[in-house]
Amino acid sequence: MSLEQIEIDAGRLQKQIDELALISENPPPVVTRILFSEADLRGRAFVKKLAGEAGLKVRQDAIGNIFIQWAGRNPKWPAVATGSHIDAIPNAGKFDGVVGVLGAIEAIRALQRAGVNPKRSVEVIIFTAEEPTRFGIGCVGSRLLGGTLSPENAANLKDRDGKSLETWRREVGWANEDLKSVRLAPNCYSAFVELHIEQGPLLEKENVPIGVVERIAAPSTLRLDLTGVGGHAGGTLMPGRRDALLAGAEVALAVEQAALNTGSPDTVATTGIFRIEPGAVNSVPCQAHLEIDLRDTQTRTRDAALAQIETAVRDICERRGVKQELERVAVDPPVICDRRLVNLVAQTCSTLGLPFKRMVSRAYHDSSFMAQVCPTVMIFIPCRNGWSHRPDEYASPDHIKTGVTVLAHALANLADEP
Ligand SMILES: [Zn+2]
Repeated sequence: MSLEQIEIDAGRLQKQIDELALISENPPPVVTRILFSEADLRGRAFVKKLAGEAGLKVRQDAIGNIFIQWAGRNPKWPAVATGSHIDAIPNAGKFDGVVGVLGAIEAIRALQRAGVNPKRSVEVIIFTAEEPTRFGIGCVGSRLLGGTLSPENAANLKDRDGKSLETWRREVGWANEDLKSVRLAPNCYSAFVELHIEQGPLLEKENVPIGVVERIAAPSTLRLDLTGVGGHAGGTLMPGRRDALLAGAEVALAVEQAALNTGSPDTVATTGIFRIEPGAVNSVPCQAHLEIDLRDTQTRTRDAALAQIETAVRDICERRGVKQELERVAVDPPVICDRRLVNLVAQTCSTLGLPFKRMVSRAYHDSSFMAQVCPTVMIFIPCRNGWSHRPDEYASPDHIKTGVTVLAHALANLADEP
């Protein structure tokens, strides 16, 4: 094996990133690719085409996770896995997830060009619906792979229009196989490495090209439906009102306070969705729908904030005479990345003469759920101003090249382990 000869084709990779960005539900520079949209399906076809051009084997499972395989000399051994996602929230950019997918395919091509002939197979996984846009829950594909989401609960997930995941699966032609078949067998992978943009400002601020992720924050998502009493904005006098929006507004403030109260800078809470009915200027809001995202690097403080939010919802709604239905959509534990893999990536950076920083991921990723299946680590690269989930999200070709180089070396080393 001649690892010195690993040379990433950064130009071609950038072209592919730009090309995939044009497959979007909105005109450029906006990237929107929501699960099951036409753009999502075309994006998948684009990636499969690239894999085919690289001579790699492609298969897809019952939830649409795509597996691109470079066969090793010992195809029966647990493979080394890498990958990320290509779905994008509304009004997003072109690098989130995509760098870890197209970068992984380029890493394999670079290893092939360098004459590497790995012992273990290497697989790139493109996970279905890392973003929670359609069903309100993120990482649908990797949760099913890792067993954190049951096939029954997955099938019953409903989108805003009340359409179930199972109905969608039938419509796009993925329903030939049962969702039960998605869960990975134990020991099917020896390791999982995900390359991703940082989505935070630290690497850029400290001028460090590589982050080695040691921990991934614990995310939780709540869904709250409030039912008050509507009425004419003129005819309904103030004392008798049971305004669903006002109850929701108090809840949103309580969510902010709960995060501040833990005293940890790592606790963050956001009310990202707030819809009201009937939504007329002369009508008292009778219904409100809120979705709340709460994250922390530690379970203790996260759970304290969660409990505080739930108490606040009960108190506020009782006081205002508004009915509430609060659902815990997901409450996940934080992830500690595999120490051996963390050290292996750190060692790879040292060998390549690259400065690196050990860090925490505040965003959750498919890695959070692959960690239930096999030893897992993430590699971060800087992105401009830490911006992500917006059209001006940017990672430089140089940083992408460096990240893919580290990924390629890590994959080569892991694929050669006995
Ligand atoms: Zn992502």
